[in-house]
Amino acid sequence: MNVLISIFLAILGAALGSFFNVLIDRIPRKTSIVKPPSHCTSCGKSLPPWQNLPILSYLLLKGKCKFCGAKIHWHHLLVEVATPVLFLMLLWEYGWQNPAFYKFAVMFGFLIPIFFIDAFHKIIPLALSVPMAGAGLLFGLVQSGFQMKDFFLVFGLPVLGLFAFLYLLALAWEKLFHKEGLGGGDVILIPAVAAFFGVLHIPWVILLACVMGILYFLIFIRKANQAFAFGNFIALAAIIWALVGDAFLNRLGLLLG
Ligand SMILES: [Zn+2]
Repeated sequence: MNVLISIFLAILGAALGSFFNVLIDRIPRKTSIVKPPSHCTSCGKSLPPWQNLPILSYLLLKGKCKFCGAKIHWHHLLVEVATPVLFLMLLWEYGWQNPAFYKFAVMFGFLIPIFFIDAFHKIIPLALSVPMAGAGLLFGLVQSGFQMKDFFLVFGLPVLGLFAFLYLLALAWEKLFHKEGLGGGDVILIPAVAAFFGVLHIPWVILLACVMGILYFLIFIRKANQAFAFGNFIALAAIIWALVGDAFLNRLGLLLG
């Protein structure tokens, strides 16, 4: 059973990765994600189905358009490989009978395109972050057994409170320092992540994002005035936290006795 589910999930993941690539290419350019069908962004020729297979086509075409020879960006291959791998890691961590598996799979579906769009364009599109927050709250509603009061106390209010807090923080920062500290996209992305994990996990996710962000800055950038997208580190930290957070907190609990 588990082998069949793993194979199915790997194929589904690669196909979804292919769709995420369409989102990554088209959302920042504000073009439709369904029309026109897959085409080369250099010469505009549309791709026949055999050139549209996840992973395989990229390898067969050696990362180049068959018609004009334009390079296909490496993120296409990375996303089509990383998506099934991350889904399989979720499956191994939670098992298919655990609702958390489905919850975090949906969260990954938003965070993977958000990660690349923020990394390449320094924006977190509302078209992804707002539905992501909605989906997270919906899982919260299911988790609360559709008891409205429980849902509002555990999920609704804390997530809304976190949003209000970050919004005021971003506003105050701008007033005090006359530049953007926390990007507008982060103000929605962080509560959206909170909707999936619960607000109490957010300090851990932000801590992990900061550690990765600082390391990246020290190793690759090292110039204080260079613009720097923080949202992709939040997205990456949330993905890692979904996979190792519980195990980490258990270890920590044992250590602290
Ligand atoms: Zn082409």
